[in-house]
Amino acid sequence: MLNFTVGPVMSPSEVLEVSAKSAPYFRTPEFSQVMLENERIMLGLLSAPKDSRCVFLTASGTGAMEAAVMSVLAPAERVAVVNGGSFGQRFVDLCQLHGHPVDEIKLEFGHQITRKNLEDAVDLSCGALLVNMHETSSGLLYDMSLLSGFCRERGMALIVDAVSAFIAEEIDMTSLGADVVLTGSQKALSCHPGISLMALSPRAQKRVADNPELCSYLSLKEALRNGERGQTPWTPAVTTLFEINSRLKAIEDRGIDAERTEIAGRAEAVRSALENTTLQMVPEKPSNAVTALRCPARNAKAIIERAKTAYGMWLCPNGGSLADEVFRIGHIGAITAEDNRKLIDALGAMSAEGLF
Ligand SMILES: *Cc1c(COP(=O)(O)O)cnc(C)c1O
Repeated sequence: MLNFTVGPVMSPSEVLEVSAKSAPYFRTPEFSQVMLENERIMLGLLSAPKDSRCVFLTASGTGAMEAAVMSVLAPAERVAVVNGGSFGQRFVDLCQLHGHPVDEIKLEFGHQITRKNLEDAVDLSCGALLVNMHETSSGLLYDMSLLSGFCRERGMALIVDAVSAFIAEEIDMTSLGADVVLTGSQKALSCHPGISLMALSPRAQKRVADNPELCSYLSLKEALRNGERGQTPWTPAVTTLFEINSRLKAIEDRGIDAERTEIAGRAEAVRSALENTTLQMVPEKPSNAVTALRCPARNAKAIIERAKTAYGMWLCPNGGSLADEVFRIGHIGAITAEDNRKLIDALGAMSAEGLF
């Protein structure tokens, strides 16, 4: 099967070589070196400000989202959340679960955020803004310079879920003034699931230090303290961390811009192949990572099923009320030029069959 979902995605050979080995014992200086190298490379790739730190949690991306809510937000701190789809809703739910008054910036699915949306929704007393840089459910890439400028003006912390944006989009933590950037192992990093990665600015670390402890397993105080010597408080997904190491080194050697250009090129080729079909782009501003498509015939499930059974390809369904109307095609992971050509051929064949 060829996997064109948004994660887990196909892994490159440098990752698969690592995953075939037994997990070594990890309370060793050798493992610490690997972890310190992971931290160094991640902070470099994110252009993190001086004295930032990166921690590695054994959890999916949602675990890092919840850890940020529990450890970076002050108790009962009022927050603003950009909600343009299911991942925005997840931040709203997590903040509310943990007792934060939420000013929700509710957007129409696939629509870009505006200055007016922010001014209308966000109270002056909000201390932080949480956003999924790329709302993976709609494929929309938010206007990060707008959000960054707004947070600077108001002195708000900026917490960025970049789970599906890391590598696929340019992220400069310093110029964004972002305090937290979090991502996961199974999206464009193209490793197995299991690890979420979180970069914290000095200001975010100070928040963590000042806040009370609400959770032991996902404690960022503990993660930061143990991370100083390249360790984690608990047994981590050791093999995934080794995969991340080999992948980060490969990205560093090649240049993250080259990775991004390749992802964008694949997205562009698929989008132009679909131009003369009945499928419509969902987002006003599409990300490189995924193409979300609306099917006027409301046959999204049939398209996904046909791609799977006739062409050996996984496309990505949407959940809930959009399950019939919208599906997505992912462009991240170890997709070769040949794979992308096969995808475009299969889409052409499905269109000729009358599916769209
Ligand atoms: C995939 C994703 C997540 C994390 O999902 P998990 O299933 O918990 O790994 C979080 N945010 C965004 C924007 C995502 O695309």
